[in-house]
Amino acid sequence: MKIEISEKSVRNEIARTVEWVSGQNLFACYQCGNCTAGCPVSFAMDLGPHQVIRYTLLGLVSEVLASNTPWICASCLQCTSRCPKGLDIARIMEALRTVVLRKKERLDHISIVDLTDDLIDRTPQIAFISGFRKFLS
Ligand code: SF4
Ligand code: SF4
Repeated sequence: MKIEISEKSVRNEIARTVEWVSGQNLFACYQCGNCTAGCPVSFAMDLGPHQVIRYTLLGLVSEVLASNTPWICASCLQCTSRCPKGLDIARIMEALRTVVLRKKERLDHISIVDLTDDLIDRTPQIAFISGFRKFLS
C-alpha cells in the first residue's frame, strides 16, 4: 500500500476530532507497542491500539473507522496504565467509537429488536446500560 504523507493527511479531520474528544495528543505516541502488548483482547482486534494511532495519523481513516478495535476494546485501562507517554488510549478508543456513532448515517453497532429473549433473560441490567452506551448512537 502506498501512503502519501502530507500535512493535510496527518492533520486529517478524524485525527483532529479524536484529539479534541479524547483530550489526548496523538503525536505523543512513539509506537513502543506497550499498549497492544498488554491489551487482554488485542488477539481479537484487526489493528492493535498502537496501530490505530499510527493509522489515524497517517490519514488511513477508512481503515481505522472500519476496524473492529474500538468495539472490541473493553475499556479496561490496561493500555493507559502501561503507556510511557501518559496517553489515555482507552479515551482514544472511546473517541473513535463516538466518531463512528455520530456519523451522518448513525452507525449503530447493535439492534435492540434483534436481541433474543434468552439473552435478555440472562444479561444483567447494568450490562445492557453499558452496552447501549457503547454501541448505540
Ligand atoms: S504505549 Fe503509548 S507510546 Fe507506546 S505505542 Fe501505545 S500509545 Fe504509543
Ligand atoms: S482499554 Fe481497550 S485497548 Fe486498552 S488494554 Fe483495555 S481493552 Fe485493550
